[in-house]
Amino acid sequence: MADAEATMENEANEDPNEEELVEYEDNENQEEAPEDAAGAEIKGSYAGASTASFQDMLLKNELMSAIRDAGFEHPSEVQHNAIPAAMTGQDVICQAKSGMGKTAVFVLATLQQIDPKDGQVDTVVLVHTRELAFQIASEFTRFSKYLKSSNGVKIGVVYGGVPFEDDKTKLNKEKPHVLIGTPGRMMHLVREDVVDLTKVQRFIMDECDNILGELKMRRQLQEVFKATPKTKQVMLFSATISEETKKLCRKFTKNAEEIYVDDSKLTLHGLQQYFVKLSESEKNRKLNDLLDALEFNQVVIFVKSRQRAAQLNKLLRKCAFPSECVYGSLSQTERLAVYQKFKNFKCRILVSTDLFGRGVDIEKVNIVINYDMPDDSDKYLHRVGRAGRFGTKGLGISFVCTDEEETVLSTIQSRFEVKIEPLPNEVDTSTYMAS
Ligand code: ADP
Repeated sequence: MADAEATMENEANEDPNEEELVEYEDNENQEEAPEDAAGAEIKGSYAGASTASFQDMLLKNELMSAIRDAGFEHPSEVQHNAIPAAMTGQDVICQAKSGMGKTAVFVLATLQQIDPKDGQVDTVVLVHTRELAFQIASEFTRFSKYLKSSNGVKIGVVYGGVPFEDDKTKLNKEKPHVLIGTPGRMMHLVREDVVDLTKVQRFIMDECDNILGELKMRRQLQEVFKATPKTKQVMLFSATISEETKKLCRKFTKNAEEIYVDDSKLTLHGLQQYFVKLSESEKNRKLNDLLDALEFNQVVIFVKSRQRAAQLNKLLRKCAFPSECVYGSLSQTERLAVYQKFKNFKCRILVSTDLFGRGVDIEKVNIVINYDMPDDSDKYLHRVGRAGRFGTKGLGISFVCTDEEETVLSTIQSRFEVKIEPLPNEVDTSTYMAS
């Protein structure tokens, strides 16, 4: 751990303002301090698509064209429930399982309403990780592509870990209308008067339970929030919203339309789940065998610490598995490079800490392996939710070593009413691979 902490500090020292940010934005400290189990998320074989159509929503033609290009045929349940309210400018608090398409709710609602003015930030989106910021920016870009010819909606992304001056230069030059970023960096940009949020029309938080649940981030969020006008639309999204978070969300909103999809039935159907009981020393052999035997598009292997991620990655490469690994103390450039490589299918095996456990959407991942069992059921769901996004099939395999890990396994089974069986010698490929 000591080495990793040192690396983090070095990285942080480049930009003293960001010191703490670098650490908690990664969400990796949960390795040492597990969060309370509260709420849950996961996609499964939910009938994600509703029978309604995007046409019924009366979205702009430019958006309809982009929706068609994206291959979205029908809105998902959450989109069907939330887009109509969100596009009228009403405040929204929205909870739906991961992978159900919440991003498109606020992206489409924003682009439907936006009237971009030169030099003015119209919409602020706060998220807790850099990868999520980047991912949301791509969604804005993808859905605004036809709007470009008329007014042109400019998208900007800011996050800690890159030199502050770079952001300053970039923002002064590009003057984005939609600004997506992590709370710490956004706060510093406001403090230093680099961005002016006094004309903001929309304030959005994705994975808001993460931002609200972390005291420092909450303070930063509040400072940014205060820099925006009193009258604006506020939209808050998360896969999990506890009762406590709900109360907090209501403080940030006025008469919000509250949309909770599938809150009570958090089933895990559609995702094949198995466990392997083994000792620590047997893990590498087993992993090797699995990667040889299973067919996969892309696989994410979760481990509990940065060191283990780096070591396992090295080992896999030695065994001729072309893997990549990602964890918070990598430099910003390295992290994004790995993320993009994986997203663009240039690499198929990713070793990750919980950094990738939430929010990040990689369509082709169909297998998640918990090389190290997560320490609570929430984390398990966030992790296995990376497989089989938006109704596709997936496979989750967890290595279980200790008594504590067995307890987590049984908590998962009772909480989500699933039976996680021991991994059979052979798994029918058609159960986890799209044909
Ligand atoms: P969430 O934010 O709820 O976790 P995302 O917004 O990341 O979910 O969406 C998950 C995946 O589903 C993305 O790859 C997205 O492009 C895709 N998706 C979203 N809405 C639709 C839709 N209506 N039809 C098909 N795919 C969709």
